[in-house]
Amino acid sequence: MSQISARIASLAESETLAMSQKSNELKARGIDVINLSVGEPDFFTSGHIKAAARQAIDDNYSFYSPVPGYLSLRQAICKKLETENGLEFSPDQIVCSNGAKQSVCNAVLCVVDPGDEVIIPAPCWVSYMEMVKLAEGKSVIVRTGIEQNFKMTPARLEAAITPKTKAIILCSPSNPTGSIYSQPELKALADVLAGYPDIVILSDEIYEHINYTGKHESIARFENVRDRVVIINGVSKAYAMTGWRLGWLAAPKWLAAACTKLQSQYSSGPSSIAQKAAEAAYQGDRQCVEDMRLAFQRRRDLIVELVSAIAGFKVNKPEGAFYLFPECSYYFGKSYNGKTIHTSADLAMFLLEEGHVACVGGLAFEAPEYLRFSYATSDENIIEAMRRVKETLAVLK
Ligand code: PMP
Ligand code: GLU
Repeated sequence: MSQISARIASLAESETLAMSQKSNELKARGIDVINLSVGEPDFFTSGHIKAAARQAIDDNYSFYSPVPGYLSLRQAICKKLETENGLEFSPDQIVCSNGAKQSVCNAVLCVVDPGDEVIIPAPCWVSYMEMVKLAEGKSVIVRTGIEQNFKMTPARLEAAITPKTKAIILCSPSNPTGSIYSQPELKALADVLAGYPDIVILSDEIYEHINYTGKHESIARFENVRDRVVIINGVSKAYAMTGWRLGWLAAPKWLAAACTKLQSQYSSGPSSIAQKAAEAAYQGDRQCVEDMRLAFQRRRDLIVELVSAIAGFKVNKPEGAFYLFPECSYYFGKSYNGKTIHTSADLAMFLLEEGHVACVGGLAFEAPEYLRFSYATSDENIIEAMRRVKETLAVLK
């Protein structure tokens, strides 16, 4: 018998973390697996950020911080929003949390009531639908494919809106596709949303700095929707700090206050040491961010070239983030050694077991015909992984 609540029993496990766990288990058994499943920079956190954390320990930053984070960190985030994004926020609009994941979840829990609808353009990050489920809301998925470069048109957005729509979750640059909405494309979406003043716009901008097209654009820049945009961001991806667990949101005051209240009962302020490290990241030299961006761009070009040469995969050229999302349905119905591939999850498992390459099937991203490869790894790993993928797929008949 299980005493687990229906709410938690209905949640799916995070597929990205589960595939990474599987890959680590195989590695622990001595199998040489190349892990392209979880999305996290393979770089070390910069020296000046680590030094700030050590200093924070020596300076006895060992007490509870204010629930939304230290004022000095929230001021540094406001400064970042002003100088990098041209957006004015005050510190009482910023709430720092244990990663951007918690920031998204805080916002969802604070705006979604049971039965409310949340529009999510897909392919989308695995956790959004589960967070909406946690709030007992309903995800309204707007599917897009590689033919549209995985971008939702204003007409599709308009068609998805109902009187029950409470929020929309946008993610640009996107996990899992790497697509980026241009300034005119964002404006067109903002123009639709301007007609529906009660819809809260969650804009997940965690991949802001991993952009190969030029300047980052935020939907918060458009005056006609500005007062109900919630920006979600953090240091995980830009500063290679996934394990430090420090994310934040910038929101209208009423929503920041609600997130602070929720967090006060649930997790309190995030780690004091991680906060001081994040403060140093935002105040320090940005060269480390640019160096990583350039490395990711080179790897993007490499993986696009290698995957384009694999029969049966359709690929586009992602403009940001560090994921490639090939269409793979050509392999559905094919078999090897009595094993038949029915879904992209079967294909991901086949590649893991037979080719020792870990990736993630598209179903978890609401895109069952695709696979996600994270290329946040070395050139050598990318080359060897794609050699194995090509060789492994060739046996499927
Ligand atoms: N949003 C997206 C789109 C992501 O891919 C991730 C992955 N980590 C997060 C949010 C959460 O980031 P964090 O590690 O800061 O919780
Ligand atoms: N966001 C990363 C990914 O999609 C990290 C894992 C997670 O939090 O889902 O792989």
